[in-house]
Amino acid sequence: MATSTATAKALTDEKRSPSGAIVASMIESAGRLKLDGEVVELLRTSWREIHTQLPVRMDNKKLRIFEGYRVQHNGARGPYKGGVRFHPRADLDEVRALAMLMTYKCALMDLPFGGAKGGVMCDPVRMSETELNRLTRAYTQHIGMLLGVNRDIPAPDMGTNAQTMAWMMDAYGQRYGYTPGIVTGKPVDLGGSFGRDQATGRGVATCMREYARLEGTNPAEIRVAIQGYGNVGSWVCRVASELGFRIIAVSDVKGGIHNPAGIDIAAVDRWFSVAGSVAGFPEAEPITNEQILEVDCDYLVPAAVEEVITGENAGAIRARAVIEAANHPVTPSGDAILAERGIPVLPDVLVNAGGVTVSYFEWTQNIQQFRWSLERVNQELESRMVTVFNDLMSRVARDGTRPRQAAFDIALERVGRAIMLRGFV
Ligand code: GLU
Repeated sequence: MATSTATAKALTDEKRSPSGAIVASMIESAGRLKLDGEVVELLRTSWREIHTQLPVRMDNKKLRIFEGYRVQHNGARGPYKGGVRFHPRADLDEVRALAMLMTYKCALMDLPFGGAKGGVMCDPVRMSETELNRLTRAYTQHIGMLLGVNRDIPAPDMGTNAQTMAWMMDAYGQRYGYTPGIVTGKPVDLGGSFGRDQATGRGVATCMREYARLEGTNPAEIRVAIQGYGNVGSWVCRVASELGFRIIAVSDVKGGIHNPAGIDIAAVDRWFSVAGSVAGFPEAEPITNEQILEVDCDYLVPAAVEEVITGENAGAIRARAVIEAANHPVTPSGDAILAERGIPVLPDVLVNAGGVTVSYFEWTQNIQQFRWSLERVNQELESRMVTVFNDLMSRVARDGTRPRQAAFDIALERVGRAIMLRGFV
C-alpha cells in the first residue's frame, strides 16, 4: 500500500497515541515493502482486546477496583506472547502499543509467536505482597479463558517479576490443571529457565558489543550511560562491564550517579543492596534522571520507562548512538530529530528481545519437560542475538534504511507472509 496523502494525515493523527506511533512505523514499512493493503488493515488494530475490572480487597479491608487488560495483537506466526505490566500508566492504548511491538519483536527474532501484552493500572511499589498476590490471581482468573500453552503465554514486564508469574501459574493451574508452560519468567524452582532473569540485559549488552565491533571500536574506549537499574538496566550494567565497557553514569527512580572515569558496577551492586538505590553511591557525582540522558557519552541506553527521549530533549543528546533497552523509549518526534542529527538508534524490538527469546527457550523446555544448563541458555541466546543483529545490519546496508526501519521491514515481511499463507485476508 502506498503512503497516500490520506494515509499521511491518518499517520499524523495516529502518532499522537503510543499505538499510533507503532502503526505509523508499520505503515511506513508496508509502503517500502509494497505490502498488501488488507494485511496493513489487519495489523492496524488488535485481534482481541480484553478490558476487565479487578475487584481486590485491600489490607485495610476496603475494596478497590483496578483496571486490567490483555491485548492480543496478531497470532499469525504462533501463540500470542508478551509480558504483563503493573504500572499506574498501563492504560489500554499503552498495552495495545506494546502488544503490537511484541508481534514485530517475535517476528524479527524468528520466534514462533504472535504478539500480546497485558497490563494492570496500579502502583505495585505502594502495594503489599498479599495485595499483589490477590490482584494477580484476580487478573489471571479474568483473562484465563484466553490463555493456553498454545494460545497465549504471559511473562513479566515492568512492575512484575518471577513471583508474579508463580502466582499466575498457580491461579491458572487451580482452574485448568498443572500447566507450567502457561507463563514464562517463572522462578527456576517452578519450571522457570536458568538465565531468564538476566536475558534481557545480556541481550542488550550483546547488541552493544556487536555494534562496537561493527564500528571498529573496542568496548574499553566506549563510555556508556544507562537510565534504569531495574531487572533490565542492572543486568546491562553487569554484563556490559564484564565485556569491558566503561559505564560512566547510571540512574534509577530515586536518582543517578556520574563518574566520567568509570563506575565500579560490583561496588554499585553492593551499595544498592543496602541503600535500595544507586543514588548516594560515594565514588560518583549525583545526577538526575533527566540529566543522564544528556550526559557526554558514546552509547546512551534508556532501560527504564517509555517515551523518555522526545522532541524536547533529542536535540540535547550527546551520545554517538542510542541503544533502546526499554520498550518504546524514543517518541516519533525524538526519533526524527536523532535521525536528522545522524545519531543511530538501535531499536527496542532487537535490543531488548533477549527476554522473550529466553522466554521461548523456557516454553520449549516446559513442553519437553527438560531443563537446559545456564551455559546452554546463554549460548543459544548469544547466537540468536548475533545472527539477528547481523541480518538487520545487512538489511540496513542493502536498503540504506535506519535500523528501526530495517527491523520493521524484516518483521513485517514475515508477519505478512504468515497472514497470507493462513488465508487471513
Ligand atoms: N516483557 C518482555 C518484553 O517486552 C518479555 C516478554 C516475554 O518474555 O514474553 O519483551
